[in-house]
Amino acid sequence: MSGATILEKAAAAPRTLTRGELAALIDWPDLDALFKAAYAVKLREIGPRVSLRGLVEFGNVCEKDCLYCGIRKSNANVRRYRMTADEIVAAAKRAKDAGYGSVVLQSGELTGEANVAFAEEVVRRIHAEAGNEFGITLSLGEQTEETYRRWKEAGAHRYLLRIETSNPDLYAKLHPASHSWKARRDSLRALRRCGYQVGTGIMSGLPGQTTDDLAADIEFFAAEDIDMIGMGPYIPHPDTPLGAGVSLTGDAAKKRLELGLRMIAATRLHLHDVNIAAATALQALAEDGRERGLLAGANVVMPNVTDTRYRADYQLYTGKPCIGEASDLCRGCMARRIKSIGEEPLWNARGDSPHWRKR
Ligand code: SAM
Ligand code: SF4
Repeated sequence: MSGATILEKAAAAPRTLTRGELAALIDWPDLDALFKAAYAVKLREIGPRVSLRGLVEFGNVCEKDCLYCGIRKSNANVRRYRMTADEIVAAAKRAKDAGYGSVVLQSGELTGEANVAFAEEVVRRIHAEAGNEFGITLSLGEQTEETYRRWKEAGAHRYLLRIETSNPDLYAKLHPASHSWKARRDSLRALRRCGYQVGTGIMSGLPGQTTDDLAADIEFFAAEDIDMIGMGPYIPHPDTPLGAGVSLTGDAAKKRLELGLRMIAATRLHLHDVNIAAATALQALAEDGRERGLLAGANVVMPNVTDTRYRADYQLYTGKPCIGEASDLCRGCMARRIKSIGEEPLWNARGDSPHWRKR
């Protein structure tokens, strides 16, 4: 099929592209045309609106050792913290008072009854105080189905668990042998059974990753009938096995950002009606990275509402933005940036995935 017709075919109907066509989209030579086509689909499906989630990074203690992540268990250079329940509830209230309409609670992966009960209690308190119209998304890693069910019953209704890559062989190279791709995939299915809006995503620009892998990632999102996508560029962290001695600057950083944007556009063009976040990692590579994500087809941003004193200790990668910004400054800056590209922040709304609503 000729170039222009793949863009037209993608825009005309969702989920019709072959793996080869998806790869062609990701590699599309005319960037402007790719982003415009994806943005037009976003406008048609969702309108000129951006959903907001206040992000609370409530703890950086993790039981896992992903080879790319700055807060992995074996990184001894991290000052570990865990916010108290009161602090987390207060941060969620800040998000609500700012008009964000929903909150994302994220942390390192912790299992065991004490940790499960802690998160359950926090969700219950936020839900009781903020009410049904306030969205609660969790991003707390792989857990048992019973745990997912408990958190759902406490009031959470969205869950974000990135598959990181849909290629099990590549996954194995990025994680210690004790981590399992299949267990992660099965967790996504357990989340679906529990009734969550299910979010997943990948990192783009991983060492050894091919365009075919990325095309397969988008096929994976479709095959698992995913409701929301949170994906972003891989950025090395010096205190990790994967990132040690690797720097991402200049043209390489530009290319990495561009690939992240290409993935957003190709995903929007294939899936049409899912929520797609403009990840913070885009902003780490360029000041206007998030806005560029929105113009490539994303429709969600996640301003950080974590207490400023903890932010520097939650560094998954180098160059994390807004470490020192107070939340009210973030709100003004974020709203201004959204308006500057002709979009409107969707204040005081949960911003559920249109795909999930249709299902
Ligand atoms: N621990 C939970 C989990 O892994 O699902 C949630 C928190 S974890 C820090 C959130 C995401 O951060 C991961 O899914 C991963 O994709 C991303 N991440 C970790 N290290 C990164 C890096 N060096 N560059 C970009 N993203 C990274
Ligand atoms: Fe832990 Fe998540 Fe980082 Fe892996 S990506 S080390 S599970 S915080």
